[in-house]
Amino acid sequence: GPQVLHDEGLNTEGKKPKTPALWWVDGDGEEVKWSFEELGVLSRKAANVLSGACSLQCGDRVLLLLPRIPEWWLLNVACMRTGTVLIPGTQQLTAKDVLYRLQKSKAKGIITDDSMASTVESVEADCQSLKFKLLVSEGHREGWLSFKDLLKNAPSDHQCATTKSEHPMAIYFTSGTTGAPKMTEHSHCSYGYGLWAVLPSAIRYWLNLTSSDIYWNTSDTGWAKAAWSIFSAWSQGACVFVHKMPQFSPPAVFESLSRYPITVFCSAPTAYRMLVQHRPPSCTFNSLRHCASAGEPINPEVMAEWKAWTGLDIHEGYGQTETVLVCGNFKGMEIKPGSMGKPSPGYDVKIIDENGNILPPGKEGEIAIKVKPTRPLFLFTCYTDDPEKTKATVRGDFYVTGDRGLMDEDGYFWFVGRADDVINSAGYRIGPFEVESALIEHPAVVESAVVSSPDPIRGEVVKAFVVLTPSYISHDPEKMMKELQDHVKKATAPYKYPRKMEFVRELPKTISGKIRRNELRQKEWRRY
Ligand code: ATP
Ligand code: MG
Repeated sequence: GPQVLHDEGLNTEGKKPKTPALWWVDGDGEEVKWSFEELGVLSRKAANVLSGACSLQCGDRVLLLLPRIPEWWLLNVACMRTGTVLIPGTQQLTAKDVLYRLQKSKAKGIITDDSMASTVESVEADCQSLKFKLLVSEGHREGWLSFKDLLKNAPSDHQCATTKSEHPMAIYFTSGTTGAPKMTEHSHCSYGYGLWAVLPSAIRYWLNLTSSDIYWNTSDTGWAKAAWSIFSAWSQGACVFVHKMPQFSPPAVFESLSRYPITVFCSAPTAYRMLVQHRPPSCTFNSLRHCASAGEPINPEVMAEWKAWTGLDIHEGYGQTETVLVCGNFKGMEIKPGSMGKPSPGYDVKIIDENGNILPPGKEGEIAIKVKPTRPLFLFTCYTDDPEKTKATVRGDFYVTGDRGLMDEDGYFWFVGRADDVINSAGYRIGPFEVESALIEHPAVVESAVVSSPDPIRGEVVKAFVVLTPSYISHDPEKMMKELQDHVKKATAPYKYPRKMEFVRELPKTISGKIRRNELRQKEWRRY
């Protein structure tokens, strides 16, 4: 069984503090702690399961659908050892999603637990490439290999497959904020080695991780962001803290941050919004010293509330499944709230126009990464089996992100919106995020989504979908709308105020918690 280590003191060489590699808790008193040595032994055993009973060859693809349990971390490492191309997916996939992923990826195997086994069985007949099913469970199931049994009996020595830096390591599905998720292929270099050897300064300064840190990244196991709780932490010798947390739960987060010596915390804006909204009257996070956010823009108001409460800044980072960290607010740098910070070392980030020309500071355009003459090492290889879509990401000398933004005179980047989300009203271009950030400053607003809505005179106008805090729900909607409009006119340039407003109980979001503005926008325009 897992050996329990203590986090104080030094190891036998007297150098590194004895932080475990993995510290997992389930919230009900169960805990697992693995030292780096144990992780080594167990992942070699797991690698033998993959190349033995599962007959996986270097380059074969495998779908991994597991909740936040230690085996997910183990299997990630085992896949790297065997050269297996890992395709992580979230637990919240439906049968249709699983079928789509299995068919699209032609995965040779699937690894999951009891909760999804029957979902897999319901679609497997239509997945010709599927050769094995591996169950991570205490029990057994007909037609499934038992990971637990196989792991127990597997030898603990294993020879790593000889992979090249450009060989595929993983295929991450994008979040699907704008459409069907895209299969994004990364090589051993672009994610693993890129994060470990080439971008350590980004990790060290954005997440500020060292070997004495205990790092909690709340990302679901289904997204590229989860890979950060492998590469960024372990490349620095930091401990990965994991809370099983089936659903994001503010009380569970508060409890863990107070109870465990977590020093670095990384989450998504939607999570930070929930945390400040559900803040308990008293709660101290004694060990916490560094916070980061990524995935969506984080509202300055939320950063201010977090700081007033915890005394800590939120270091925002900007990246995509296709990239690693593109811009970040690095430790030691002045933080300009609302800005994504400065480019990560190793990326040459520019704002470009529709012809691929570089725009000067202050001009809004598309955020792009220079790929010619030399493509940076840590960009995705391709969208799997989609050369057209892959090609479409390059314009002139640049990889285009599909996001619009600008760079100020100090070299800080500011996110305006996804190219499709930017509103064009009577000649003005309006980024939804700025309006949403103005709205959230008002105490009545929990969160909002701002989209374009058709208008007979202006062509399009700004419309806000607003979630109100409980104490404001019963207010007169007309008056509430007027008050919020006046507030936005004062908080930002008046032409940006939402001419239309709708109060809703919740916003449509992706599984990873991102606001799906395009769903709201399409509804607006369909109605028209
Ligand atoms: P899809 O490509 O399937 O529509 P997605 O773009 O949301 O989904 P991800 O790769 O998970 O999939 O997310 C990357 C995108 O998230 C970026 O292109 C950007 O739009 C947004 N994003 C990430 N971090 C930030 C940030 N700090 N500020 C603003 N936007 C961000
Ligand atoms: Mg995208």
